[in-house]
Amino acid sequence: MFCKNCGQQIDDQAVICPHCGVATGNMQMQNRVQAQGNGMAIAGFVCSFFMPILGWVFGGIGLSRASKRNGKGKGFSIAALTIATVNFILGLALL
Ligand SMILES: [Zn+2]
Repeated sequence: MFCKNCGQQIDDQAVICPHCGVATGNMQMQNRVQAQGNGMAIAGFVCSFFMPILGWVFGGIGLSRASKRNGKGKGFSIAALTIATVNFILGLALL
């Protein structure tokens, strides 16, 4: 692709133009993707307290996304899966 600031050809994966140092659109895209991974992990974390099944689903998705995105949201995902499992066992015990 070409830098939108200086017009020089740069790598498609480049986050910053090596010629002028201006950020390319790639940075925003990566941030958005990482936020999605975090969102799933946090959704799973919240749901795990009330709905263990949803906690597992969101936690599992969050964990698989976290592994592709520098581990972002991994802690929340593992917490979600752990809490969901504990709540599920407690729920069974109460029945
Ligand atoms: Zn440039």
